Amino acid sequence: MIADVDNDAIVYLNGEYIRLADARISVLDRGFIFGDGIYDVVPAYAGRPFRMAEHLDRLERSLKSISINVDMERADWEALVTDMLHRSGLGDCMVYIQVTRGVAKRDHAFPKNVSPTVFCMVAPFDRPTATERDQGLSAVSLTDVRWLRCEIKSISLLGNVLAKQAAVDAGVDEVVQFRDGYLTEGASSNMWVARNGVLLAPPRDNLILEGIRYSLLEALCVQTDVPFEARAISREEVATADEIMMTSATREVLPITQFDGKPVGDGQPGTVYRKLRAAYDQRIKDLEQA
Ligand code: PMP
Repeated sequence: MIADVDNDAIVYLNGEYIRLADARISVLDRGFIFGDGIYDVVPAYAGRPFRMAEHLDRLERSLKSISINVDMERADWEALVTDMLHRSGLGDCMVYIQVTRGVAKRDHAFPKNVSPTVFCMVAPFDRPTATERDQGLSAVSLTDVRWLRCEIKSISLLGNVLAKQAAVDAGVDEVVQFRDGYLTEGASSNMWVARNGVLLAPPRDNLILEGIRYSLLEALCVQTDVPFEARAISREEVATADEIMMTSATREVLPITQFDGKPVGDGQPGTVYRKLRAAYDQRIKDLEQA
C-alpha cells in the first residue's frame, strides 16, 4: 500500500489497465536507472481535458527530442487520455503520462531493440483556493543550477526537486530562478512579470520549459488588451516589478505578492493578473459547459 494515494485507482502500464498498487516495472527500466524519459500532465475540468492537443504536441516533441519511438499515433494518445479520464470518474483532475526508453542492460548509450515503457495515471487536483487567488503566494529567488536543456519535459527532475525543497525550507510557496542574473522560471511553473501594464515573459528557449500556459497567456493578453513582450528580464526588473505571477497546469495562474520577504507592488494581486485570471476562468467555464 502506498500512502496518500488511491491504491485502487486504475492506471495504464504498457497496454494494460491495472490497480495502481499492482503496477510494477523492472528495476532495469531506464527511467529508474538514468531518468531516461519524458512526461506530460494534462489538466481536466469536469472530466474534460483542457488544451489536450497542445499537451500532446509537447509530449510528441519531447519524445522526438530524445529519440524515443513509441508505437502510438496521435489518435492513440487521445484515446488513452479520454479513456483514463472516463475510467477515473474524476472531475477536476490531471492525467499524468510518462514514457521511458524501456528496460535494458545498464549501459548509458541508447540500447537497440528496446520497447519504451508507457505509463499513465489520473489523480484529483484541488484548484487554487480563494485565498491563494485573492491574497497571492510568496516566493524567494534562487540561482538556477539546472542543465541547459530545460525545454525538454524530462523526468530527470532533481534540479526542480531541489528548487522546490528550497521553497519549502524557506517557508514560501515557490522559487523564482535566475540564471546569470536573468529570470528563468519556477521549480514547476513559468514566471511572468508585469511592469507599467505590460506583461513580460522570459523568451522561449532552452533555459525554460515552455508551459502550455505560455501561449495561452499570450492569447489571453491579446483578448484582454494587455501588451505582451517576451524578452530577457533582469533580477532588478523582477525585484521592482508591479506584479509577478506564475502559471502551471495545476496552479493555473496565480499572483506572487511577496518576493524575497517584500511585498510585490502594493502587496495585492494587480490589474494585469485580474484581467488574465478572469479570462482564464472563462476558458475553464466554457470547457465545463461545452
Ligand atoms: N516549467 C516547469 C519547470 C514545469 O515543471 C512546469 C509544469 N509542468 C511549467 C513550467 C509549466 O508548464 P504547464 O503550463 O504546461 O503546466
